[in-house]
Amino acid sequence: MAKVVFNEEKCKGCYLCMTACPKKIIVIAEDRMNAKGFRPVEVLEMDKCLGCAMCATMCPDCVIEVFK
Ligand code: SF4
Ligand code: SF4
Repeated sequence: MAKVVFNEEKCKGCYLCMTACPKKIIVIAEDRMNAKGFRPVEVLEMDKCLGCAMCATMCPDCVIEVFK
């Protein structure tokens, strides 16, 4: 199974990764903010992840790492 890891403190809440994900499994983490005051993103249904890394490619701040 693929695994996606977010460096939450670097996230600026642009949500480009959400639009890039073909499975639409990246969601806004509504329960927390990072030190910059942005709501980061998370994947709740990791079993649906394709490991395609479209999210990591799209992220302008290199927040996302994808492991297969
Ligand atoms: S694209 Fe990167 S900076 Fe933008 S919301 Fe996603 S993880 Fe955060
Ligand atoms: S690796 Fe692909 S399927 Fe998995 S969260 Fe990123 S864009 Fe979505």
